Amino acid sequence: MLAAIINVGTELTSGDTLNINSQTLSRRLFDLGIEVKFHISVEDNKDLLKELIEDSKKKVDIIIFTGGLGPTDDDFTKEIVAEVNHKDLIYDQKIMDSIERFFANRGTKPSPNNKKQAYIIEDSIVLKNDLGTAPGYFLENDGIKYILLPGPPGEMLNLFKKEVVPLIDSEEKIYKKMIKTIGIGESLLEEGIKDLIREENGVYIATYSKLGEVRVKLISKEEDKLNNIYEKIYQRYSEYIYTLSYDNIEESIYKNLKQNKMKIAFCESCTGGLIASTLVALEGASEVFDRSIVTYSNRAKVEELNVSEDSLKKYGAVSEEVAREMAEGLYNRGSIDIAISVTGIAGPDGTEEKPVGLVYIGLKTKDGVIIKKNNFVGRRKTIQERTAKEAFNMVRKYLSEKNIYSIEL
Ligand code: AMP
Ligand code: MG
Repeated sequence: MLAAIINVGTELTSGDTLNINSQTLSRRLFDLGIEVKFHISVEDNKDLLKELIEDSKKKVDIIIFTGGLGPTDDDFTKEIVAEVNHKDLIYDQKIMDSIERFFANRGTKPSPNNKKQAYIIEDSIVLKNDLGTAPGYFLENDGIKYILLPGPPGEMLNLFKKEVVPLIDSEEKIYKKMIKTIGIGESLLEEGIKDLIREENGVYIATYSKLGEVRVKLISKEEDKLNNIYEKIYQRYSEYIYTLSYDNIEESIYKNLKQNKMKIAFCESCTGGLIASTLVALEGASEVFDRSIVTYSNRAKVEELNVSEDSLKKYGAVSEEVAREMAEGLYNRGSIDIAISVTGIAGPDGTEEKPVGLVYIGLKTKDGVIIKKNNFVGRRKTIQERTAKEAFNMVRKYLSEKNIYSIEL
């Protein structure tokens, strides 16, 4: 089955709101084996919406709309879908009652224009929205399925999972694998799997790169073929693979630390707490996170981490030696399995000897200290983000070397 997604709302085309619904829906449809051919964001414009529907009808079997189901005048997705399909809008007292209940539960009353939301498309199935007032609709007409969902992403997803999936679950299975790698460039990786891409054996292979990472997506209708290609890529590049899921690097590290019952701590100079806050953004972080100390000044490095004044003078704050002493000072506080230290030049001012982007990352464990010298390119924020990513990547490498890192968590 082929699908199109039409996201309605001037807030999307004007750039005020990021169109998250198209990504969420594309992923969900993909998981159901439904191929999304295109998604379109369109302003609140009746004629344009009509044209897009007429055009989409020729190309796909399912058209999913988000947005434009609210009570105001610029919400008219329902009206247009009804019009295009020559259906009436019919007042439904039961829906009006549920809208009144929704407001009563919040101690308020619906406004007069909420009445608009009680009109349903003739012959459609009404999809109950328990998180808001706008119900969704499912209409099948002339062999095309129309699915109308509210704009707010939480309501949209809730309705999709509960009400839409049972209506469109397809018989045809599509198998997929997302391979996320870190530490290898896109061109190098693509070069290394060119022969597989060329084989044309019923497996779609695409690579994408994103801030120090490369993702390889495999899609096939045949599970064996997909697994065969995956095995080949794994044999060649296993040392760079960090997950086979949608997780990002910090989520993968979090899951692996948790699995191994390990605690991590950070002392950060040029990242100013970014690594810690990236980890703490994850639910359950307390299970793996011990502490982070932002030791920005030399004095802080001495007072908090016991870095020697001599080393600071002799090698400078951004040096292998200081990164080592920072990691050791942190580790020596006890009950920490992995202590990470960061010291570097995020910019804008560097020197010839110590240019912008020079960052030392230390990793101290019971097995010793590892220091990695990096020369990141980019502006201050990019350098900080790359540093955070590389810090997590060093943890992955350490766990992998000990054979306690899993890419399948
Ligand atoms: P609407 O159903 O058109 O009244 O949309 C209600 C609100 O949902 C909008 O004001 C946006 O904040 C949000 N919204 C609508 N469409 C999207 C979308 N595609 N992605 C993210 N948020 C959206
Ligand atoms: Mg709208």
